[in-house]
Amino acid sequence: MKNGRTKRAVVAGGAGFLGSHLCEALLAEGIQVWCVDNFQTGLRRSVQRMEQNPDFTFVEGDVIETNFISKLPRSIDLVFNLACAASPVQYQADPEHTLMTSVVGTRNLLRLAEQRDARFLLTSTSEVYGDPEVHPQTESYRGNVSCTGPRACYDEGKRAAESLTLDFERAHRAEVRIARLFNTYGPRMRSDDGRVVSNIITQALEGSDITIYGDGTQTRSFCYVDDMIDGLMRLMRYDGEQPGPINIGNPAELTVLALVEHVLKLTGSRSPVVHLPLPQDDPRRRRPDISRATQLLGWAPRKALVEGLQATVEWFSKSEAASEPRRAADDARHLAG
Ligand code: UDP
Repeated sequence: MKNGRTKRAVVAGGAGFLGSHLCEALLAEGIQVWCVDNFQTGLRRSVQRMEQNPDFTFVEGDVIETNFISKLPRSIDLVFNLACAASPVQYQADPEHTLMTSVVGTRNLLRLAEQRDARFLLTSTSEVYGDPEVHPQTESYRGNVSCTGPRACYDEGKRAAESLTLDFERAHRAEVRIARLFNTYGPRMRSDDGRVVSNIITQALEGSDITIYGDGTQTRSFCYVDDMIDGLMRLMRYDGEQPGPINIGNPAELTVLALVEHVLKLTGSRSPVVHLPLPQDDPRRRRPDISRATQLLGWAPRKALVEGLQATVEWFSKSEAASEPRRAADDARHLAG
């Protein structure tokens, strides 16, 4: 409760993979949620499920525009900005829109937080570290991003969004939090999302070619969705001094080859593995240093990779996921080719 009424949150990108999990976690805490989404990558099905809840309101809109703001209540306590396609295939499909979503969208949502005196949380990304030369990545590392390559629309957009977010705090215009999210997976990823976990699981279940880009020795560190949402909620609740950007991710690092082995074992699939060209600027390795999240938020991921993959495979095997368009293999070839 705040001022004698139920707390209110706006979740931009609330129909997306992480957004829909976050909306549900907020509702479970008794917080009223206004979910804003343009369905670029979000799913109507996620919204329809939550609309059964009287504390949930959906507002269709693009954060680049401002017309969604008039449909929100006058008083709001929390603004979460998760609005942006996050898969390379998706964010490279319309790079101008991706960059504007991070820059103009973040500006619109920061202004909303300023007007409503709400706390603002930006979901930034490990991509601000680019192809990192420091390993594992600490928040103080300034990164190695190409500002002209195909990933720049996402990376530079998020870097600009971070600077704008902290400028609002420096000017006392809004109280802000920034989370740098590392690769996250789990139930409700789209099968046509184009990311490695959804591609490989979908391909293994279909018995189609498993697409590894490059030799598969590049590494990532995968965080289960529930752990990620817990980290975001803790950061939003954090009441100390401005903590600066905080890495949220699972430090358990593995190669893409090892990930494929896990998925083949869990699914019992006999899909053949094919190697496709490594996309330009694909980071060689990535692992978060989460000391700050642990120290400030008492947060650490709890779900082991095999357990998390098992839950994700089960979800993808169910009919709900199967009704999604299955274009993972096509997207994979498009990106790598
Ligand atoms: N990748 C792959 N096969 C796929 C999709 C991705 O080998 O079908 C690789 C990709 O090149 C990258 C890693 O897996 O090295 C993670 O890719 P993803 O798109 O999931 O996330 P990001 O590159 O943004 O970390």
